[in-house]
Amino acid sequence: MKETKENIWSSEETTRLIMNSALDAIVCIDTDGCIIIWNPQAERTFGFTETEVIGRRLSETIVPEQYRALHETGLKKYLNTRQGTVLNKVFEISALHRNGHEFPIELTIVPMRLKEHDFFCAFIRDISERQEAETRHQQYAEDLKRKNIELEQFAYVASHDLQEPLRTVSGFVELLKRHYKNETDENVIKYINYITDASDRMWRLVQDLLDYSRLGRERILEPVDCNKVVQEVLSDLAIAIQESKAVINIDPLPVISGYSTEMKQLFQNLLSNSLKFRKPGEPPVINISVMLREDTWQFSVTDNGIGIDEKYWERIFVIFQRLHTKNEYEGTGIGLAHCKKITELHNGKIWVDSTPGEGSTFYFTIKKRNTDKWKV
Ligand code: ADP
Repeated sequence: MKETKENIWSSEETTRLIMNSALDAIVCIDTDGCIIIWNPQAERTFGFTETEVIGRRLSETIVPEQYRALHETGLKKYLNTRQGTVLNKVFEISALHRNGHEFPIELTIVPMRLKEHDFFCAFIRDISERQEAETRHQQYAEDLKRKNIELEQFAYVASHDLQEPLRTVSGFVELLKRHYKNETDENVIKYINYITDASDRMWRLVQDLLDYSRLGRERILEPVDCNKVVQEVLSDLAIAIQESKAVINIDPLPVISGYSTEMKQLFQNLLSNSLKFRKPGEPPVINISVMLREDTWQFSVTDNGIGIDEKYWERIFVIFQRLHTKNEYEGTGIGLAHCKKITELHNGKIWVDSTPGEGSTFYFTIKKRNTDKWKV
């Protein structure tokens, strides 16, 4: 017979070739539950050779004991009713290896009918590695969470306990200052002033750290009207706004469900940075906007200030990281770390986009809840 493409495609050889090269284990059974097809991948997955299993009941080979009854009744039910809940979909279960080891698999069972004969084919994958990776990932996430909590507790305890000795140092420096007020040796006065400055600065750092670790403690979610929050921040910053002749444009903002004190602090830090890091001799122009994206509110605060080089875009959100000395611009470098923690408390993120010399846009997202709305 002349070989045509059609009879090559439909030949048994072709079927074998496909079966042999399939990445899934392919196991087919007849209506008695006996194995009729067992491809090489099935051999690799379960350890049984084809000759060992053909003709044997599936439930006595790779089905773990706890699923045997289920398998038998499912098969009977399908033959009587033509219905089966697990057919034609992907599901996860466990299987037995020849060596007795039970392992997780993912499979699809497809009922088939050929020349009035019913049979069932299962396409099976060993998912042990995937499950192990998932477990490892979960453990890693839990470890990270625990470590974060420990670190926060440590920051709280450390900053809390540092206050006491620091108070003592400041107190005695104050006494020394009084004691030496008529001192003629200029160095003595100079050194005392250095100590005062350093202990003042350390006092601020300790307070900042304490605030940071307290952020969001004992908080309650409530409706927060961002329009109101921003207005409060503007009135707190009124002097800085007037002095710098800042122009601030604010789009209508939503009422979100959040932590009001923290939200105020977030806007306060971003706005005061936009005022602080302005270009010399140029009044700040600041825009506050918001966009609704799928399930988050995406806010933005844009300024026309000095901008930030791309290499610092991540670093500025780390606690106590600053790009300037305290003589150039006041601050301790905690503001953006606060902002990061606050957005994370609201299941959101914060990031910056900026062009040095032209300005910066700080974006942050807040998870939207069903109760959130635009103020009308
Ligand atoms: P601080 O303001 O106390 O320095 P922040 O954590 O608020 O601390 O900011 C960290 C650094 O990020 C700042 O020192 C500054 O270099 C940079 N920065 C923050 N906001 C802006 C801004 N709007 N424009 C330019 N640089 C900014």
